[in-house]
Amino acid sequence: MAESIADSIAPGSVLVINAGSSSLKYQLVDPATERVYADGLAERIGEPTGSSITHEVGGRERIRRVALPDHRAAIAEVVELFREDGIDLAAAQLSAVGHRLVHGGREFHAPILIDDAVLAAIERLSPLAPLHNPPNLVGVEAVTALLPDVPAVGIFDTAFFHDLPDAAATYAIDTEVAQEFGIRRYGFHGTSHQYVSRQAARFLGRPDDEINQIVLHLGNGASASAIRGGRPIDTSMGLTPLEGLVMGTRTGDIDPGIAFHLARVGGKSVDDVDRIYNLRGGLKGLCGENDFRAILDRIEAGDSAAALAYDVYIHRLRHYIGAYLVDLGRVDAIVFTAGVGENAATVRADALAGLEGYGIAVDPARNAERARVSRRISTDDSRTAVLVVPTNEELAIAQQAAEVVLTS
Ligand code: AMP
Repeated sequence: MAESIADSIAPGSVLVINAGSSSLKYQLVDPATERVYADGLAERIGEPTGSSITHEVGGRERIRRVALPDHRAAIAEVVELFREDGIDLAAAQLSAVGHRLVHGGREFHAPILIDDAVLAAIERLSPLAPLHNPPNLVGVEAVTALLPDVPAVGIFDTAFFHDLPDAAATYAIDTEVAQEFGIRRYGFHGTSHQYVSRQAARFLGRPDDEINQIVLHLGNGASASAIRGGRPIDTSMGLTPLEGLVMGTRTGDIDPGIAFHLARVGGKSVDDVDRIYNLRGGLKGLCGENDFRAILDRIEAGDSAAALAYDVYIHRLRHYIGAYLVDLGRVDAIVFTAGVGENAATVRADALAGLEGYGIAVDPARNAERARVSRRISTDDSRTAVLVVPTNEELAIAQQAAEVVLTS
């Protein structure tokens, strides 16, 4: 089977790379036909034990347990896994490697061919995303070293939100301080919000510049956006991906004064507070669990901590929906996406319960149906269409990367 996959890889395919601090996700996809040839995940990179790569080609998954001292070693191992499947990435006539890059600051608002100047700019922006930009850079360098002849394209998570209106992007903080430290709302998950909003417009058969949408990206990370005529006018994540909705391990919105209290009264350092907010917050902080399926099971079994975590999650989500309904005035579609949004019918129902007066009505039977395709879950007479649209950031990255290469 692997032989036939190797033979069938279309010239112009794209290798998509998403490098995190200790992980590396990848996918080999044809941006034209949307066919996925292979994908995988390298985990525990740089850890002394337990690192592995889960590699899937043609529906066949294998797990390689192997030492991965750094990202370069991980990429070399991935290239080797492809080679064992008869796929020589260097000879596969890839049009591009598309890199997911988290923070593009004010500088990057579109996908870009990565050269030394771009690398230097991403490095300069690292203080804005210390957990994300450095591993992204390492990923770019490691892949470029192994595939030097394939153009590397950067797709920024912040790009879609680059032109947020000033009122939404500006924090009410001393403007000199904001200026000096680049403090403003940048927004994240932009590739997903852009892709999903365009898919939603296509599903509704309307040009996306004619419709207003609220997109709810509910995964382990979670964010909401208000999109008017194809352009975002607000989003819940801010300077960093910590603000906004309750997430798997992140607090989302929190009184900034809590940090002072923890420091002054609790003797916590900045790094302690960072961990409390980013790693020990959200659903995990509230009930010790960030896997939404497990939380729903625990609620079913009568667990009160899980029930409170769920209620806090829904409460925050409804606040953002309410705010964006007012911001947009007219909302044509509310769109759920990502792991929780696509799969947890109860979250969708509770997020929009009681909004019939606003022209929003979820149909319980449609909502309960499970499918991996875009679908409408609102009643026929709901003025606002409620949709579930699967996100596909890898495909969006591949398509944007291929286009950059074609047009440059
Ligand atoms: P993502 O970050 O988009 O991969 O989403 C991960 C989150 O989606 C985790 O909290 C999962 O528990 C949740 N998830 C995945 N499948 C389901 C499901 N069938 N029901 C509820 N939550 C799910």
